[in-house]
Amino acid sequence: MQAFLQQNPNPGLETVCLPGPTCGSNENGMPQYCREVETELCFVCRRCGRAYPQESTLLAHQRSCYLGNQQRRGALRLVQTRYACSLCESGVPTRVYNTLSGWRRHAETLQHRARHEAVQERQQQQQQQQQFADGGAQSGEETNPLTDEMEDVVNQITLLAARAAAESTGQPQAGERAGQDNNNGPDAKRQKLVQEVAALAGAR
Ligand SMILES: [Zn+2]
Ligand SMILES: [Zn+2]
Repeated sequence: MQAFLQQNPNPGLETVCLPGPTCGSNENGMPQYCREVETELCFVCRRCGRAYPQESTLLAHQRSCYLGNQQRRGALRLVQTRYACSLCESGVPTRVYNTLSGWRRHAETLQHRARHEAVQERQQQQQQQQQFADGGAQSGEETNPLTDEMEDVVNQITLLAARAAAESTGQPQAGERAGQDNNNGPDAKRQKLVQEVAALAGAR
């Protein structure tokens, strides 16, 4: 560390990224949901090489370490690449893994696998919904004739109901129908149908 400090006599704060223990092992690419995070290890005083966990404590130390020489204060901010799970923690990660293999062990945990399955299910559902939306747009022309048919039926029913209402109130042919008024005549059948339809319509 002393040699390193002498090689970098620049004042100011310099960030140094320490090579991770698994450096060179991600040639096959990062696993899905694995993301590199830069974690702060410590701050090192350039003059004496003491390390401090926070910048504030380093600065407090340097007030005496660089006594009378404050403008030459220099420090190293040591960081190291670690691995976090973007699936389990989308924001600032609270759990980081020192090595890629440590991250892989996390990916084998039930918690991570359950989340992964949930995400896959959601993606499948979205794909299905997408397909459904596409299919719905294509079959939109096919459903219109159906609704037209329905409208025709409704119109016929309404017409029948109107006729039945006119006949039942007017009753000009009551005498003529008296002979066949045993609920067997075509008019009676039709009236029954109209009543059923009206009941159905009322129920809606
Ligand atoms: Zn110092
Ligand atoms: Zn995870």
